[in-house]
Amino acid sequence: MSRNPAGKEEAMNAIRELFEQAAKAWPKKDMANNYVALARQVAKRNNLRIPSHLKRQFCKGCGSFLKQGSNVTVRTQDKAVIYKCHECGKLYRIPFIKELKARKRKV
Ligand SMILES: [Zn+2]
Repeated sequence: MSRNPAGKEEAMNAIRELFEQAAKAWPKKDMANNYVALARQVAKRNNLRIPSHLKRQFCKGCGSFLKQGSNVTVRTQDKAVIYKCHECGKLYRIPFIKELKARKRKV
């Protein structure tokens, strides 16, 4: 099944769909977290990376779905965005690499 070239694309669609469902399930945390767990399972089984914009929607530490303004604090600091998961207290620092590269290209 995984050898089917269409399989990965299908799996990626399923991952996106699961994150949409998680967002819709919010604020039912258990349901949202279940969808996140499923999406991560699909990714793992298919050797897929979860797209970066979706990665920011869950905590790698505890697997919770993260909703801005609810259970995650987002701050910008210097050249990075700091995410703090309120469920487990984990901090994530995501640098603005893409933006920095884009700026360098212009100069
Ligand atoms: Zn967490």
